[in-house]
Amino acid sequence: MEVIEVKEVKAFGTQAAEAPLEEVNINRRNPTPHDVEIEILYCGVCHSDLHTARNEWHGTIYPCVPGHEIVGKVVRVGEHVSKFKTGDLAAVGCMVDSCRECEYCREDLEQYCAKGNIQTYNSPDKHLGTQTYGGYSESIVVDESFVLRVPENLDLAAVAPLLCAGITTYSPLKHWHVGPGQKVGVVGLGGLGHMAVKIAKAMGAEVIVFTTSPSKVEDAKRLGADEVVLSRDEEQMKRYAGKLHFILDAVSAEHDINTYLNLLRIDGSLVLVGAPEQPLPVAAFSLIPSRRSFAGSMIGGIAETQEMLDFCGKHNIVSDIEMINIQQINEAYDRLLKGDVKYRFVIDMASLKKASVEV
Ligand code: NAP
Ligand code: ZN
Ligand code: ZN
Repeated sequence: MEVIEVKEVKAFGTQAAEAPLEEVNINRRNPTPHDVEIEILYCGVCHSDLHTARNEWHGTIYPCVPGHEIVGKVVRVGEHVSKFKTGDLAAVGCMVDSCRECEYCREDLEQYCAKGNIQTYNSPDKHLGTQTYGGYSESIVVDESFVLRVPENLDLAAVAPLLCAGITTYSPLKHWHVGPGQKVGVVGLGGLGHMAVKIAKAMGAEVIVFTTSPSKVEDAKRLGADEVVLSRDEEQMKRYAGKLHFILDAVSAEHDINTYLNLLRIDGSLVLVGAPEQPLPVAAFSLIPSRRSFAGSMIGGIAETQEMLDFCGKHNIVSDIEMINIQQINEAYDRLLKGDVKYRFVIDMASLKKASVEV
């Protein structure tokens, strides 16, 4: 087996589903000829980080270092790297590799790789034989094919959430041809939901937000929503029965999907991006009488992620963020569970270095 040189770096991770996140040391490989080493400046906090850290999807390998909304600066490149040089800004999203030869990889759909894509954390690391470790860390080493360019005109910390929340909403909105003349529902105004509002508006659609939180109504309008519906108010919900062309559901917990299917017009589609732990029952008669579709969508391919970043650069779209230090991550997870984030936590990774100096 090829001998790989490694460097030990500081990270934040967890050893068990019930354990809090704390400082850990992990190994990063020295860049191989096609690798880029990135010093991580900011990392967004996705609800998937929490689902994984707490083993809610039942497949977490510990220790687990989450984080897949990564932006930073290139500090070293392998000898064959052509896309990046030292000093460039760079970003990494939810994937760091795939087989690159199956029919899906060849169609730029690496997220659906037939052999399974290699996710940024909690996937097998073919270089080191461990699991992959994510962005709650000082640095990361990734093959340049899976590293993205960052638009220079956008605030860097607020770009980080685009790497998951941005692409996960952009991809289905584009795939289902959302655009002018369409009424689009966004369910759940969290990290993904608030990006969906901004992107669907930029694509020209009329956007209606469905939220369980009265405190988010004004914000939803500020973010660009044409209308906001309190989803626990039956009277408000009835007004939209059979009216929407498309719905993007970004809710992280159990909820009644039939209530939303019934808002679709004939031939309308509801696409699930939220991934609650428990199954969501679907009534046959929520679909049959209006020829409705119920589908799912996972992140987006690498080329499409770059397209989304460029689209956001052109339309001046970034995430609304609340910056935290890495030491606040456990508190941030608790707030995420309560829907109490406006609208994405982003970790200032400088806090990881500071902590280690103080200790
Ligand atoms: P988030 O910021 O926590 O937002 C989730 C939102 O769902 C909350 O803000 C809340 O919105 C709503 N919600 C929460 N609990 C609810 C409940 N019990 N009933 C109804 N609504 C509830 O999470 P996120 O980071 O946007 O992620 C959302 C989901 O997408 C997660 O399950 C995550 O794992 C998944 N995800 C999937 C992909 C993919 O590729 N498909 C990628 C990334 C994330 P309101 O306050 O407005 O009601
Ligand atoms: Zn994510
Ligand atoms: Zn593949």
